[in-house]
This record gives sequence, C-alpha cells and structure tokens, in this order.
Amino acid sequence: MYYFDYAATTPVKPPVAEAMVRALTAEFGNPSSQYPLGRAARDRLAADRAAVAGALGCRPEDLFFTSCGTESDNWAIRAALHLGRHRGKHIVTTAVEHSAVLELCKSLAREGYDVTFLQPDSRGRITAEQVESALREDTVLVSVMAVNNETGNVYPVAEIARLLQARKSRALLHTDAVQAFLKVPGEAFRGADLISLSAHKIGGPKGVGALYAAPAIQSKLVPLLYGGGQERGLRSGTEATAQIAGFAEAVRQRAARLSNILTHTAAMQAYARERLLAIPGLKLLGTPEAPHILCCTLPGYPSQNLVEDLGAQGICISAGSACHRGKPSHVVAALRLSKKEAAGAFRVSFGEDTAKEDVDALCAAVEAHRASRFPML
Ligand code: PLP
Repeated sequence: MYYFDYAATTPVKPPVAEAMVRALTAEFGNPSSQYPLGRAARDRLAADRAAVAGALGCRPEDLFFTSCGTESDNWAIRAALHLGRHRGKHIVTTAVEHSAVLELCKSLAREGYDVTFLQPDSRGRITAEQVESALREDTVLVSVMAVNNETGNVYPVAEIARLLQARKSRALLHTDAVQAFLKVPGEAFRGADLISLSAHKIGGPKGVGALYAAPAIQSKLVPLLYGGGQERGLRSGTEATAQIAGFAEAVRQRAARLSNILTHTAAMQAYARERLLAIPGLKLLGTPEAPHILCCTLPGYPSQNLVEDLGAQGICISAGSACHRGKPSHVVAALRLSKKEAAGAFRVSFGEDTAKEDVDALCAAVEAHRASRFPML
C-alpha cells in the first residue's frame, strides 16, 4: 500500500499502541480513585498532560483533554461567545475552516450571531489585514485555522494575535491547530487564546484531542460538560486514559524527531510537486506552505474517478477533505476555480514513512490515469 493521506489520519506505531495497552491493562485505574492503582493512573495522566503541554509550549494546567479536534473547536467557540456575551455577537472566521468550525459558525449565524466569513484569494491565502478590516467594537471572537487541511496554506495566526493586541480588541482568538501542531513550527500560531488539537493527525489514536486555554480566561470558561469535575471542572467525564496515553506517546515520539520529520516531509512534498507538475495539465492549488500537504487539480479528470482508480492499485489519496465524502469541498469552491478545475481537485499528504519510491508510484499512477482516459469537457 502507498499511503498519501496523512492529513486525514495517521497510523499508530507500536510504542503508541503499547502505551495504550498499558493504560488499558496494568494501569487501568480510574484517576479519581484514592488507592495506589488510581494514584498511578492519576500520575500517568499528569505526565501525559505535561508531555502534550510541553510540546505545545504551555503549562500542563492550561491544557484540557477532549474527545477530538471537533469537540475542542466546538467548545472553544461556544466558550468564547459565552465569555463575550455582554459585549456583542460578531464573529470573524474564514470560509475555508474545517467543517468543525464552519458548520458551527453557520449554525450560530442561524441563531442570530453576525458572522463574517473571510474569503481567501485564488491561492487560498487569508491575511491579517482582512481580519483587521472585519474587526468591530462588538467582535467577540476571531477563529482562524493555523494550517488549512486541504490546501496546506499556513494562516497568519501569530500576526493576527499581535494585531488584536495592538488594536486593543477584546475579541478572543481561537485557532484550529489540528493540522499545525507538530507539523509546522509552533511560532506560527503563538498568541492564540484558544488552540484546538487532535491526536490522530500526529500518530496518536482517533477519539482524543485537547484544548489549550490561556491562563487569563480559564476561570471564566463555561464548562463543556458538567459532572464529576474532571479536567478542572470544565470537562467532566472519567478521563480516557488509554486514548490520552496514546496521544502523549505520539507527541513524545514525534517531538523527539520533529526537525528530521519536517525536513523529510518537506523533501517528499517538493519531490512530488516537481514530478506531479510534469504531468500535462496538472496544476497546483492553494499555497502549500505546510510541508505535509499538496493540493492539485487535473482539470477534466474528476477526482472521484482518480481516487477510486488509484485506490484499486493500493494508492491512498483524497478528493479534497476526507470529511466531505465525495461532495464538492467548500475550500476548493472558495478558490473560485472553473468547474473542471474544481472537479479535478485532489489532495496528497505526506508523513515520516513516505519514501521517494512511493512518490514515484503515485506520480506514475496519476500520469497513467490521465493517459488512459479522455478528458471530460
Ligand atoms: N480541524 C482540522 C483542520 C482537521 O483537519 C480535522 C480533521 O480532519 C479536524 C479539525 C477534526 O478533528 P477530529 O477528527 O479529531 O475531530
């Protein structure tokens, strides 16, 4: 198999699986229990929280575990709106957020919030100036993702944070860093008040994420779940110790080799880019600043057919975001492409195990697909 869908999910390696098995078996205690087995689970949880927080560059107490990136996004946005409820109902976000943010914002607009959806330019870029022009007195939340999951564009989150400060805006800044955490340097999204993470994009298991909340706002955050008071009373529910152990182990493994991984994925991306662009008609979409994502189009060759054809040969790529399951993607639509270009859009994404030979197989298969069919008019 040739796997080129690391932006959709990543494989769990043996050390990560072993950490999870330990948490499910020998260390199966409930972290709230008051005997040694419970204490051991509590200590493990504290060490795991410290590992993820350390890689993010925050204090362990600033990090709250959740069940996924989607949950982190939903919680962050609802909590920020609750916090700003006496100041206004204006939200600034982008038209190219992941559905976890976009669909919530659309629903909030139906509930009576005023949402500004910033449009990217034709290369997928969003600028801090766009955010600045959209800001108002009653803006309570700016939510801009750190790396776009379909195009690989890196958005200027740190610059937006500085801008909000310079403008003395009281709007909170949330960033969905699911495709950025340990995939691009952390400076890219420094300064956000709320940061969403997910484990399964970096070698951890599915079904666990985290939300960073800046110290200044923690005491004012509205709990996501009421109950037994776990996660400092903000997200009750017995901690998913095995999922969290897997998340933390994936972070340790990746953080230890981060610069090698980033250099390697960037090299694979550059090689794939050069080879794919040699295919007649193939165009690059977006601005692939993140080293793990490349978005392309083969106009006249619907990507659904390409994905199926390559899939049958054991080559896994994605027609836009995996979350769209064949429907035209809102990100590709926002790039204002022709119908043929939009229909031909596909994403390849890279990881530490991607080898040059894999890229050769991918490029040969895309070229063979093109050569074996008539383009659709
Ligand atoms: N945000 C982005 C940018 C993503 O790419 C994804 C996953 O595709 C998510 C959020 C959702 O994360 P999860 O699958 O953990 O809910």
